Amino acid sequence: MKFYSTNNKALRVSFQEAVFNSLPKDKGLYMPEVIPQLDPYFIQNIQQYSFQEIAFTIAKAFIGDDIPENDLKAIVEDAINFEAPVKFLNAETGVLELFHGPSYAFKDFGARFMSRIMGYFSKQGDQLLDVLVATSGDTGGAVALGFLGVEGTRVTILYPKGKVSKVQEEQLTTNGQNIRALEVEGTFDDCQALVKQAFNDEDLNAALRLTSANSINIARLIPQTFYYFWTYAQLKSQGMKEVVFTVPSGNFGNIGAGLLAYKMGLPVSHFVAATNVNDTVPRFLQTGNYEPKASIQTLANAMDVGNPSNWVRIQDLFQQDTSQLKGMLSSYTYTDEETLAGMAELYEKYKYVACPHTAIAYLASQAYRADHPGTYASVFLSTAHPCKFPEAIQPEVYSHVQLPEGAEELAGRSKQTTELPVDYHTFKTYLLVNN
Ligand SMILES: *Cc1c(COP(=O)(O)O)cnc(C)c1O
Repeated sequence: MKFYSTNNKALRVSFQEAVFNSLPKDKGLYMPEVIPQLDPYFIQNIQQYSFQEIAFTIAKAFIGDDIPENDLKAIVEDAINFEAPVKFLNAETGVLELFHGPSYAFKDFGARFMSRIMGYFSKQGDQLLDVLVATSGDTGGAVALGFLGVEGTRVTILYPKGKVSKVQEEQLTTNGQNIRALEVEGTFDDCQALVKQAFNDEDLNAALRLTSANSINIARLIPQTFYYFWTYAQLKSQGMKEVVFTVPSGNFGNIGAGLLAYKMGLPVSHFVAATNVNDTVPRFLQTGNYEPKASIQTLANAMDVGNPSNWVRIQDLFQQDTSQLKGMLSSYTYTDEETLAGMAELYEKYKYVACPHTAIAYLASQAYRADHPGTYASVFLSTAHPCKFPEAIQPEVYSHVQLPEGAEELAGRSKQTTELPVDYHTFKTYLLVNN
């Protein structure tokens, strides 16, 4: 399979190049040259397969020619080694829990898969691969734990000092081995600017083999399609056929993967994008004008995105046909006050403690059902374990949270970070001196 740039379909690169470049030079995004169609017989019988078998079948459809089958199978089995259960709150509403991986957030699917693909393509004797990543919290933990111990790679994470939660910081800073954390005395945007400047720095690129682990990498998108198929398998084994997915959305990578799964042949009735007040896409669906704006800070901070970077992929999937897209995608927007009410309602009605992102998806799934009654199953995606966002959940709800396995052990480890001012020269020197 070759991959083109959304800005220039004539530009085609191999899977390996798409993964290491992350972004084409023309600043488009990579897309597969054809959307692989899964065998209808496989989809009709999907409930007979395990999550890993389904994941392998999909991975093979995208990258089958580029990685031998047995190697790809080993990569999938190693990357996707945790559960993604659908738990039913009532007869028609289920929550797809995507937080059972090592960083307790759905970004583990993308980060674990990408790290193993990069490790696979980095042959012995190659120069060490330096992965740079800026994080506002969740991405860094998934990337750190995804790459931990992956041979031939070294990860440098930049995070804003004092602006990530306790569990997030522990996941970033207590790993050692091939993972290092830089605590930047600034904001997430400062971290991102430092990383961007490094990628554009010729001296640095001559000395180090730099790559990015950001969310637009095609190797992060592909594994996010896996759990949409797996959800369908779980529903089918319970006799349900029709499903509407509601996805809490920021950069629109997760829901983009869902729409890609649909285009590959997965039977889905509709998608609902749930956002916080960063509502660029909901406004677009309403007015037809795409007008990005500066992001606004909210309780669901992993979705504080004013210009969703994966949106061009979704438009590409629908060949810029907005009316066809609107037939498949609705959206709802929630304030922090409504998000708090959503978390309270989930606990009161179902004894379910959810993170703010998940609560927004719950609210949108209920709003869509009120607007479109039917016999379908509503599945909303839970993108993180609530323990990652203690400051964003009311104490009376949070007091019922059950810590996942390993969280206490994590708290006991010692923090290793290097403080960094917002100064490019200092950052560059750090990278060159600690090489
Ligand atoms: C990253 C993230 C999101 C947003 O996902 P996108 O793919 O950027 O839309 C939602 N919830 C949580 C917890 C996240 O970490």
